[in-house]
Amino acid sequence: MKFLDKLIELAFPPKCIFCHKLLWRGDDDGDFICNSCENNLPRTTTANGVTTADFIAKCVSPLFYRDNVRESIHRFKFYRCQFYSTPYAHLIRECLDNHPDIKFDYITWVPLSKKRYRNRGYDQAQCLAEALARLFDIPLWGMLKKTRHTKAQSTLKDKSQRRANIAGAYALSHGIDIKGMSILLVDDVVTTGSTLSECAKVLLLGGAERIYCVTLAKAGTSKVKAKPKK
Ligand SMILES: [Zn+2]
Repeated sequence: MKFLDKLIELAFPPKCIFCHKLLWRGDDDGDFICNSCENNLPRTTTANGVTTADFIAKCVSPLFYRDNVRESIHRFKFYRCQFYSTPYAHLIRECLDNHPDIKFDYITWVPLSKKRYRNRGYDQAQCLAEALARLFDIPLWGMLKKTRHTKAQSTLKDKSQRRANIAGAYALSHGIDIKGMSILLVDDVVTTGSTLSECAKVLLLGGAERIYCVTLAKAGTSKVKAKPKK
C-alpha cells in the first residue's frame, strides 16, 4: 500500500456500508460490507424478491428494505454516499444472475425532478444505474425526464394515492429512439411499483419492446416460518 493511501485509510478508515461500523483488515474483502452484514443481510429469494406491477416484464430486488438496509439507503440518498452504488451494484448482479430470463440492451433509471436534483446535488438512481452499466459493460442512457415535481412517494401509503401522485409525471427525453429495445430500468427501492410502472408505460409507449426493473431493495418482509407446535 502506498504511503499516501495508508495515511488516508488511517485518517478516514472505511466503514461497512450497512452497519456503518469500522472495517478492519480481514473483515472486508474490498466490497465495503463487513462479515457480519455479509452473513445477515435481509436477502430476498428468487421467488420473494420479485415485485409484480403493470407494464413491467419482471422486477427483482436482492434485499428487503429494512434495518441496516434502510439506513444504508438513507445515507446513499441524503448524505452523499454515492460510492455505495458500486457495492450495491455487485449485490444486484448476484440477484440478476438468479434471473437469467432478464436480458436487456440498455440500462436507464427513474430520474429525480429538477427541483429535487438541485436540492440533493445528485441522482441516486442514476449513480446506481451508472455502476451497473460499468459492471455489465452495457450502455447507459438517460431515457426519461420528470416533467413536474411530485410529493415523495414515501409520504403516501395508499397505492392509489401513489399512482395518482406520479401519473403523467414522466416523459421520454427529447429526440430518443428506443424502438424494439429491451431495457433495464433502475431505482433504489420499490414499494408498490407505481413509479416503475409509470416509467415503464412511457418507455413502452415510446416503442420499447420489454421493460425489466431492478431495485436494490423492496419494501415488505420475507415470510417468517411459524415455529412448529410441540
Ligand atoms: Zn456491517
